[in-house]
Amino acid sequence: MDHPRVRVRFAPSPTGFLHIGGLRTALYNELLAKQQGGDFILRVEDTDRERFVEGGIENVCQSLRDCGVEPNEGVWLDGNGAIVERGDAGPYIQSKRKKLHSAYAQRLIKMNKAYYCFCTTERLQKLRQDMHAAGKPTMYDGKCRDLLANEAQKRVDEGEHHVIRLKLPKKGKIKIWDIIRDDIDFDWVFIDDQIIIKSDGYPTYHLAATCDDHDMKISHVIRGEEWLPSTPKHLFIYEAFGWTPPKFAHLPLLLNSDHSKLSKRQGDVAVTDYLAKGYLPEVLINFVALLGWNPTADQEIYTHDDLISLFDLAKVNKSGAVFNLEKLNWMNEHYLRKIPEERYFELTLPFIEGKTGDREFAERCLRLVRDRIQKPSEVEKLTAYFFEDQFDFSKVRLPWKTQTQKKAYARLQSICEPIKNADDALFRTSVSLETFIKKLIDQNGWSNGDTLWPLRVALSGREKSPTPFELLWVYGKKRSLKRLHDAIMSLSTSMTDDGNPFILPS
Ligand code: GLU
Repeated sequence: MDHPRVRVRFAPSPTGFLHIGGLRTALYNELLAKQQGGDFILRVEDTDRERFVEGGIENVCQSLRDCGVEPNEGVWLDGNGAIVERGDAGPYIQSKRKKLHSAYAQRLIKMNKAYYCFCTTERLQKLRQDMHAAGKPTMYDGKCRDLLANEAQKRVDEGEHHVIRLKLPKKGKIKIWDIIRDDIDFDWVFIDDQIIIKSDGYPTYHLAATCDDHDMKISHVIRGEEWLPSTPKHLFIYEAFGWTPPKFAHLPLLLNSDHSKLSKRQGDVAVTDYLAKGYLPEVLINFVALLGWNPTADQEIYTHDDLISLFDLAKVNKSGAVFNLEKLNWMNEHYLRKIPEERYFELTLPFIEGKTGDREFAERCLRLVRDRIQKPSEVEKLTAYFFEDQFDFSKVRLPWKTQTQKKAYARLQSICEPIKNADDALFRTSVSLETFIKKLIDQNGWSNGDTLWPLRVALSGREKSPTPFELLWVYGKKRSLKRLHDAIMSLSTSMTDDGNPFILPS
């Protein structure tokens, strides 16, 4: 009988921080569960005690929460950041299910589907070396496969070191049906008698995951492609117990741009790192969703809700998905321009807040650079000059092309007066400032270059910057006049007979 209700699980091992690939696996599980009105479970697979990383579970839960991909059952962080479990199919922390796993292993032994193996580490090592030297695949040679049951039991009772292995068929094939990959045949002859209980008494992943999936009534196992070769062993266990297996979907590998497997060595992989760098959670979701799947040919931007309604496991690609950082940056830029302004300020203000107590001024700075950034942190550099006390005009050219210092000085002087007398309302938009300045240019018969260049450099202290109208708008009247005054003073020091510099109003 098929599983009547969609129940999926994300089952990370807490061996480090949540990887970007893990986020995709979690997301695909969540998308299916939400679309089908089913359950999305977080199960922590921590039976490999040697690889356990302190804080790993918390990081997974927190990263999922930050990205809005939260399970509705299983492991969970409460309001105080403590790990708790909720749901009727627990415990959801695998190490707490050790007794259940041992009992299942015993049943497999009784059914002659598993056996005790007493081979020492030294023997296995030697075996591996010999096989390797002979150019054969390194596999267990089955020495303990056919020990008599009572003999093996006696050795166990006497306390001899042992593990438990699956007694897998040695010939024939097994067919697996995968939603993404269709039918796949595996030859049993290449599949090793998998250890299911280690010498420390803990189950290996294969036994634990399979039995837990059954006990938790998992309907679909959606996981990375690297688990595909393990699936025959899992199906063997389902068959041995007469259980209905879940449907399987193995997601394509994530690749670096050089098509090697995405790994830490080539940059960040932890979700936490991307969030800390200012990639928006909804961007990460949109981005990872498209690693191996795209619901339409002509669209890249999807909300989480869009993804839920469009999701189709059968349309996920088989071949590896390249992690394209430029696309991620482009997407972040796109979202930064689209989000409500309040949220944009929330994300970017922390980077410049310490530089001014004037929130409105800070907000104008942020508005100015909004179309020019891919990540919130970039606002700091792009707005830096607004907060500099004094510019060093010796490093830039204030006069335009052939304009003399004297003329640049005179031009800035002539602009200051009308700016000083202008109504404050003029500073509400850069458009009104543009009209105002251009009118001045017209009325006086000035040239654009001779006016706008010195004005812009005076306001930014740089030869490259946004337009002078935008700069005037961001500064407001008082700050603009201060900048112009500084520039005029700097020009005046290198001149002799050109009258008094403009006096800064108090
Ligand atoms: N614990 C495995 C992992 O770390 C889970 C594999 C599975 O989903 O079956 O990825």
